Amino acid sequence: MQKSSFYAEWRSRYCPAPCLREETGAPSEKLLQAIWLHQRIKRNELATLDGQPLEILHPGFWNREPGPDFRAAVLRIGGDVVSKADVEIDLHSSGWKSHGHDVNPAFTNVALHVVWEGDVRSQRPTIAIKHFLDAPLTDLSLWIGGDAEPPSLAGQCSAPLKELNEQQLTELLRQAAFVRFQDKARQFQARARNGGWEQALWEGLFRALGYKHNVWPMQRLAELREKLLHDGPRTSLHIQARLLGVAGLLPEGLDAVHRSSAAYVRQLWDIWWRERETYFDHLLPKAAWRFAGLRPANHPQRRLALASHWLANKNLVSNLDKWCSRKVPDSELLISLHTLFQATDDFWPTHWTLRSAPLKQPQPLLGPPRLTDIAANVVLPWLWSRAVEGKNLLMREEIERRFYAWPAGEDNIVLKLARRRLLDTSLRKLKPRAALQQGLLQVVRDFCEHSNALCQNCRFPELVRAWPR
Ligand code: SF4
Repeated sequence: MQKSSFYAEWRSRYCPAPCLREETGAPSEKLLQAIWLHQRIKRNELATLDGQPLEILHPGFWNREPGPDFRAAVLRIGGDVVSKADVEIDLHSSGWKSHGHDVNPAFTNVALHVVWEGDVRSQRPTIAIKHFLDAPLTDLSLWIGGDAEPPSLAGQCSAPLKELNEQQLTELLRQAAFVRFQDKARQFQARARNGGWEQALWEGLFRALGYKHNVWPMQRLAELREKLLHDGPRTSLHIQARLLGVAGLLPEGLDAVHRSSAAYVRQLWDIWWRERETYFDHLLPKAAWRFAGLRPANHPQRRLALASHWLANKNLVSNLDKWCSRKVPDSELLISLHTLFQATDDFWPTHWTLRSAPLKQPQPLLGPPRLTDIAANVVLPWLWSRAVEGKNLLMREEIERRFYAWPAGEDNIVLKLARRRLLDTSLRKLKPRAALQQGLLQVVRDFCEHSNALCQNCRFPELVRAWPR
């Protein structure tokens, strides 16, 4: 028998239980989330506060972004199965109102409110897990304060995928990535038929700058490009004042503006107040923009500043053509494209927004992760669709080569989850390439998004089993 461990005993006696709130002994929200994630509850005995039997077929995926705490859970509540349900975790059922979930559209799909303790009169099915823990709370607190391993999230495709060797798996993801690439190229082709190739490129660039939250207002500004360029001087400052003015993103007064920004904002207003009449019919309401959950680097003011530099550069598109025609070794792909798209000025490297205090460390307007995104989603598919249209086979092959050789971009929440579900590990030693990330995203779009956390009715495992060996 294992001798009792001095280390473990000492730890349980003297290490503080980090997830308990000192004043009440109740758990923190973080601990409640961990209990739910690991399902440290008596799963066979669950019931909601109003007495309905509850089965957790899948607890859902932990959401690290704004919105409910868990997404895509599969539950059986009072005998009815609810698929793709959101789950919100709060200390008390009153948190539903006091946190504003009742008026927040992001919480409409919440099918279960998980609380520590609560009131039977809750607005939606609610479970108070205080009554269902599978161990004393102090033990759970100690366990989560230590190194609790996250449970496997492996999907049903993970086992057959493991049977593919590295080359076969790489080929599968490359082929999925190319489906995605061609879809994007087709969109550029369709847009070019209506607005011309250059306009199609600009719309793609603006949409990429909108990231996922602000794609549509960015698209609208791109559609106004001709007007924005031809209504006055074409310096980046003038274009920036128009873009920010039309976007409704110029600060109304200087009161809330940090003193280091006041002179710059005044310069923009000096331009905008003379021109704004011309744009009266095109002004965007501020409500068109989303700011919640944005990283500072993705703030639309900053992204529009970058766009203004690009628009002021008359040679950007012709330089892109030259970049495509000259030889670029794999190791220089990123840096060579960065040279074309980088931009700087006296203000933006040291400010996240027009109101913010100066940054201690200057930040480039365009970093490598965003550029990789722009390369994979805009520049390369756009160049490729033009090469296809022009029947330029050599060019087409060269662009495909660059696409597959492009270094991997920044990880994101979708990719992380996809790796854990499909590959069941991040340790699989695939080459860090943007195309493989794009391939994973395509599998998620084609399969995971049409199934649920239990992988019901997903045909991807069949596809993998039939993969040529
Ligand atoms: S839904 Fe399909 S593709 Fe997604 S993890 Fe499950 S089996 Fe894999």
